Amino acid sequence: MAAAPALNDPVFSYLKPADVARLGEAFRFSETAHAGQTRQSGDPYISHPLAVAEILAAWRLDGQALVAALLHDVMEDTSVTKDEISATFGKPVAELVDGLSKLDRIEFQSAEDAQAENFRKMLLAMARDVRVILIKLADRLHNMRTLGAVPLQKRRRIARETMEIYAPIANRLGLNALYQELQELSFSHLYPMRWRVLTRAVKAARGNRREVIGKSLEAIRRRLADAGVEASVSGREKHVYSTYTKMVEKHLSFSEVHDIYGFRVIVKDVPACYLALGALHGLYKPVPGKFKDYIAIPKANGYRSLHTSLIGPFGAPIELQIRTEQMHRIAEAGVASHWMYKDDSTSLSDLQKQTHLWLQSLLEIQTQSGDSHEFLEHVKVDLFPDEVYVFTPKGTILSLPRGATAVDFAYLVHTDIGNRCVAAKVNGELVPLRTELRNGERVEIITASHAKPNPAWLQYVRTGKARSNIRHFLKTMQYEESAALGERLLEQAVSALGGNAAEIDTANWERVVREVGSRAKQEVLADIGLGKRLPAVVARRLLRRAEPAREDARGSGKLPGRVTIQGTEGMAVQLATCCRPIPGDQIVGSIKKGQGMVVHAADCLQIVRSRRNAPDMWLDVDWDAATPRLFNAAIQVTVANQRGVLAKVASEIAEARSNIDSISMEEDRSVYTTMLLVIEVSNRKHLARVMRALRRLKDVLKIARVKGQPAGASAAATGSVRLT
Ligand code: MN
Repeated sequence: MAAAPALNDPVFSYLKPADVARLGEAFRFSETAHAGQTRQSGDPYISHPLAVAEILAAWRLDGQALVAALLHDVMEDTSVTKDEISATFGKPVAELVDGLSKLDRIEFQSAEDAQAENFRKMLLAMARDVRVILIKLADRLHNMRTLGAVPLQKRRRIARETMEIYAPIANRLGLNALYQELQELSFSHLYPMRWRVLTRAVKAARGNRREVIGKSLEAIRRRLADAGVEASVSGREKHVYSTYTKMVEKHLSFSEVHDIYGFRVIVKDVPACYLALGALHGLYKPVPGKFKDYIAIPKANGYRSLHTSLIGPFGAPIELQIRTEQMHRIAEAGVASHWMYKDDSTSLSDLQKQTHLWLQSLLEIQTQSGDSHEFLEHVKVDLFPDEVYVFTPKGTILSLPRGATAVDFAYLVHTDIGNRCVAAKVNGELVPLRTELRNGERVEIITASHAKPNPAWLQYVRTGKARSNIRHFLKTMQYEESAALGERLLEQAVSALGGNAAEIDTANWERVVREVGSRAKQEVLADIGLGKRLPAVVARRLLRRAEPAREDARGSGKLPGRVTIQGTEGMAVQLATCCRPIPGDQIVGSIKKGQGMVVHAADCLQIVRSRRNAPDMWLDVDWDAATPRLFNAAIQVTVANQRGVLAKVASEIAEARSNIDSISMEEDRSVYTTMLLVIEVSNRKHLARVMRALRRLKDVLKIARVKGQPAGASAAATGSVRLT
């Protein structure tokens, strides 16, 4: 516990004694948890969280954030759990540490620009509390400061990640000093040679020009004093990395770039900024086009200052920044300046509110200036998040609207993936397709070649892309299925007239398509399948038969004799859910206009009246001998009400190679109880086998197939359970 006295460091002196005591506890807790662990440098591990807490103390973050900083690696690197932290240090601290651990688990993979941008957004979106980001940035800063001890390969990766992800986040939050330090450190590790050469050159140039700089500085101070402007003026050191980017971007040599000196003038209020500007423009000639008023129109991250360039003594340009003390604080510390300069009376929630207000005011500034709508977008996305960011299995980040599901994700990856998806895995675990995705999740879609979009998806998809693709697919599918059914109905009608559909040639078809005012043969067939055209009418035209005589007119609407179905026609042929016909049953069908054919069992009770009153509506349908699918059949089983009886029934059904689709039971459970089961069978024989097997159970008293039950008949039964 050697380092504990470090908490006496004056950097912590702004904290209340109770907070300092808490910090001591957290320090000891963390030290114990990390006991025996060392950093790459050989230092005991605790030195790292302590350093992070010190960085945050310099930004004056509150006690909770500092405690979280001391504990920030315990969940990742030791066996300590969130609950333990919550029990010892309270829920807010536990939430902060948990948030940090979540961010830690994400690894940035691709250097692609768009990818980096999404990654930054995701980090910001995941950190619902801005303190999480600040702790994360301090953590990264200390890791960068001590990066020399890390093996080369890893060093480069971390440096690149810092340059592409963390430095821009610091910039966006207005943490300028941090932004620059992260950039300098990253640059020095990414390009050590260039870094060394440039650093040396900058130092030498500064030495050579000391005299010129000194003279200019003095002249500026005197001029401001003469003009009655109270100001502090300092020379501004150019950063190596910014010099380097200027050289690269503008194709300049070092001497061309470094011929610029920078000075910073800090005054007491806004009017003094403009007074100072006027005075200095009178001292040296300004460079045309270089003046920028970031006070009137602040930069995207809230930065405010006046910028100008002057032609100094010996013709060298001088860059000037003029700002107030308050502008300076925000320029250096951005969002953290709210912690740095709060007085004791402000509570944390006030501060959160203030920060929020500050961010919102930035938003408004941006809206007014209309200049960087880029930032506008960022603030919206990052701090008022309405998007989620998730990974593909390959590590690409995709953004989706909040509430989007696995189906939306599938369609975003590819239309084919969406159309054929059957299940999804989130972070390696199987989940239903309707599952809402959350930030940082890794999503994998499982597809099957025969799978098709389900109309039910339309109820929960969020993206327009998924919605329109599903609609399009269903429409196309229905059209194709209807055309296939229509073709069969037409074949029947043609042969009923003594013709042969296979002998009808293209020219004949083209004539009929024209005559009926349609666009294509396929469309005529789909119309027949959908019940919009009568097959007999089209058949007569194809065979050039006259319309039947007047007295026979009613017959012209009659449907053809028989048609064969497989039950796999999809939406063109629907099996009625009242009687649930299965292969082997006698079946009849009727075609509803625009909906296709609905098939009932011939003895279905629901259609008795319709068949008597409108026999023309109905046609006989046959089952195809070999239908590949399983069909739902309903059976009613009365059993002795004993424990385990359902399990026996279920296992008997499974034994007979059938599945249970749903079960409902009678409310009144006396000695006997009646269950309504919907099971999957391939045909009548299969169903008979299942029923025989159930009958053999001694607890089963009665068993019967349910057919033609009116839709509401099962209302007495409750507790319906779907098993699939
Ligand atoms: Mn760390």
